[in-house]
Parts: sequence; C-alpha cells; structure tokens
Amino acid sequence: MSSPRSIKLNGKTAVVTASTDGIGFAVAQKLGLDGAHVVISSRKQDKVDSAKATLKKLNISVSGEVCHVTDSVQRTALLNKIENDFGGLDILVLNAGVNPYFGPTLNTPEEAYDKIFNTNVKSTFLWIQQAVPLMKNRKNASITVVSSIAAFAPFQQLGVYSMSKTALVAMTKTFCSELGVEGIRINCVAPGVIKTKFSSALWKNTAMEKSILEKVPVGRLGTVEDCSGIVSFLSSDESSYITGETFIVAGGMQSRM
Ligand code: NAP
Repeated sequence: MSSPRSIKLNGKTAVVTASTDGIGFAVAQKLGLDGAHVVISSRKQDKVDSAKATLKKLNISVSGEVCHVTDSVQRTALLNKIENDFGGLDILVLNAGVNPYFGPTLNTPEEAYDKIFNTNVKSTFLWIQQAVPLMKNRKNASITVVSSIAAFAPFQQLGVYSMSKTALVAMTKTFCSELGVEGIRINCVAPGVIKTKFSSALWKNTAMEKSILEKVPVGRLGTVEDCSGIVSFLSSDESSYITGETFIVAGGMQSRM
C-alpha cells in the first residue's frame, strides 16, 4: 500500500525521541511523509539503523542517532548536531516513557519511582530547556509531549506511571506562557491503550483485553497511526492558534468531563 504524502511540513526539521518503534516511529514516519526532515533516536544502534532504513525506503528525509533520553551527553550531542546541520529546530516530539513496575502503588520500589520520573518527567523538562534556544527564531515552532489517558484516569497497577503522565499535562500548561512569548507552541497528546510492545501486557492476555475493550466505545484498541496524524497536525501551521492543550486519543474511553 502506498503511503499518502503531503507538503504541509516542507522545510521543517523535526526531532522525535524514542522513535524507532511504536508510537514514536509512526509519528516520525507521518512527519516525514508530510514533508519534514525527521531525526529519529533511541537507545539501541541496531534499532536506529533499521528504523532509518525503513523510512528511507519511503523516500523520507531522515537521519538518526543513538540517544537515551536521560543521557545529557547524548542529548546535548544530538541537539548540537541539529544546530550545525540545520541551523535550528522546528518540531520536537517528546515521546519517551517507561514503566518498570506493575502492582500496588504503595509497594513501588524507590528505584522504580526514580526511573519513571527521571525518564518520563525530568528528561522531558530538560529536553525542552535545551531545545528552546534552537526553536525560538523559527516560524511557528511546535513541541508535542506524549502523555497518557492514565494522566486523567490512573491505572491502578500503574500508579506512579500515571502520576508521571499527569505531571506532563501540568508541564505543558506551565510552559505554555513562557514558550508563547518565544513564538513556540507546546501541546500534549494522551493516548488510550495503543497496540505496541509497551502495552502488550494489557492486550496479550485475552481476558484483560476484553475488559479494556468494554470501556472503549469505538470497540477496538488503538493503533500507532491513530496517534500520528494529530501530532503532525499539532506540528503544522494549521494549528498555529492551539497551545497549552492536551488531546486524548482513546476511542472514547472515559477520562474527564
Ligand atoms: P514502544 O512501542 O515500546 O516503543 C518504545 C520506543 O522507545 C522504542 O523505539 C525504544 O527503543 C524507545 N525507548 C525506550 N526507552 C527509551 C529511552 N530511555 N530513551 C530513548 N528511547 C527509548 O512504546 P510505545 O507504546 O510506542 O510508547 C511510546 C510513548 O507512548 C510512551 O511515552 C508511553 O508512555 C506512551 N503511551 C503508550 C500507550 C500505549 O498503550 N502503547 C498509551 C499511552 C501512552 P530502544 O529500545 O532502542 O530504546
């Protein structure tokens, strides 16, 4: 099947973190098909190489680096390379998220708490801090943060993960004014249950999948493509009057009033 293309992001440079698989990869692909140059990254070189090769086959303008989102040396190197190669950055999608613990919130080990907050929250904050100087002289630059429906309706076995995702909604609102002055928009996308490796514990078990589907009015789990279109829209000039908002992509799952 040929992938639809557009020119709405032509001339823009995009960085998508944690983008060699799942939602991040689909977002990188969509931004590329819509005309942006995309810079992909993740922790493993072989995954970066294989994702880059797949995108190149679609005639997407792509480059890629190994970058663990919490590693300040790798993060700085990636952003310096963008500045040297492209003179700045138009689109930043902060997609990395981990959950090393499943169980009662009260029993969460301290190391798991630290890993969740370092990766999901602190690294997002640091990426924004470091990327803003590259984004502020661009026309209509945009940041999109990937949160979760768990930000609004915590998953009981994923308590600290849910708390970290709520922090990202607050971070989006908090940065909105300061970044607005710099001409940068920031929005947030909160997916429901999307079929990826990350969420496989929820849908590989038939009984659990059935109980989730009972809560999804559209009657199916989400796909990565369900998430990528809205990120492309939020990264484009079509959304130039939208900032500080969070968009839920969850097939109608109950989240808030
Ligand atoms: P996924 O399919 O498992 O993909 C994860 C990607 O992130 C891979 O490319 C992985 O590559 C990379 N990665 C993992 N840890 C990283 C790190 N510390 N630094 C850099 N890259 C890293 O996951 P996903 O389901 O697409 O999840 C993406 C985001 O969506 C997460 O923030 C998650 O919380 C959020 N989300 C997912 C769902 C869902 O149902 N799937 C729902 C709501 C929100 P390497 O192994 O090479 O690093």
